[in-house]
Amino acid sequence: MSGLADNFDAILLDLDGTVYLGHRPIPFVADTLKTVLASGSRPMYVTNNASRPPAVVAAQLREMGLTLTQDDVLTSPQAATALLVQRHPPGSVVLVVGAPYLADEVAAAGLVPVREANADVVAVVQGHSPDTGWAMLAEACVAIRAGADWVAANVDTTLPTDRGLLPGNGAMVAALMAATDCHPRVAGKPARAMIDEAILRSASVAPLVVGDRLDTDIEAAVSAGVAGLLVFTGVSSPADLLTASPARRPTFVSFDMRGLVDSHAVVEVLGGGAGWQVDEHDDTLILRAVASAGADSSDRAQDNAALHALAALAQVAWNTRVSAVTAGDERASVALARLGIGADQFTGSAAP
Ligand SMILES: [Mg+2]
Repeated sequence: MSGLADNFDAILLDLDGTVYLGHRPIPFVADTLKTVLASGSRPMYVTNNASRPPAVVAAQLREMGLTLTQDDVLTSPQAATALLVQRHPPGSVVLVVGAPYLADEVAAAGLVPVREANADVVAVVQGHSPDTGWAMLAEACVAIRAGADWVAANVDTTLPTDRGLLPGNGAMVAALMAATDCHPRVAGKPARAMIDEAILRSASVAPLVVGDRLDTDIEAAVSAGVAGLLVFTGVSSPADLLTASPARRPTFVSFDMRGLVDSHAVVEVLGGGAGWQVDEHDDTLILRAVASAGADSSDRAQDNAALHALAALAQVAWNTRVSAVTAGDERASVALARLGIGADQFTGSAAP
């Protein structure tokens, strides 16, 4: 089966919402990535998570049936360390705010991790740790105010847990921004540094970023100038796609990871739309099936038709203000239901 992955030599995969949800693997991922590997493209797992080393992430993914080594995993501390090394020679002293693993990465790069501010500190690197408290932030504040370079592993404001959303690294970074009037350089998505580092490590000339979030994965892809595939197995929905700002628009959309290996399961947003017509009336998009379209009622055909409908809608929505989408006929109703787009989806929202 030929598919999208054949056109790319590295597939840079997000984890949560793309490969797994919490501790559950997402359907079709293992089989799809087997096919990707067999076709000669290299999957790389690119995660903002700053507290787990690549070997731990790789072991978890192998338990889900994936084939990989720790070299196929890139974490935000690795990308943050790459940013540090660009500016600071080996032996430079770096104040570490974060998990022990972050300090390990700093040391592995030939830098000297410390936990207290002193006159030798040239940089501060900050990643999530549940043990970070005021005293640690105070050390970082002293160093940053004294002019140290400041790198954040990521700026995710919240951390999803089984108790709900808790303060993420971005919240702790925000505290230091308030106290220093400085801004960190950021490694993790949506910054491009993670993608740049993944491309470097995989020696890729044709990378594809795959993820479930417009505001992290896809924005990072756009920022790095590479193609992005949005999958609807996590946070962002088809309705979100229609109101995405230019900095967050994916090249391709697919319901799930099968879009990498099945050409019917993926659509190029700006090249798709076959079989559909979209009219605009008073901020409302009206979707209609073109009469000559096939009547194949298989799930695979329905999914393909729905993705083309989404592409047709996006092509119009990305150039206008949208407050509602409605179906102009029965086939359009089926497609919109498959996409989870309701008639009142955009009422009251501020589209671009
Ligand atoms: Mg995700």
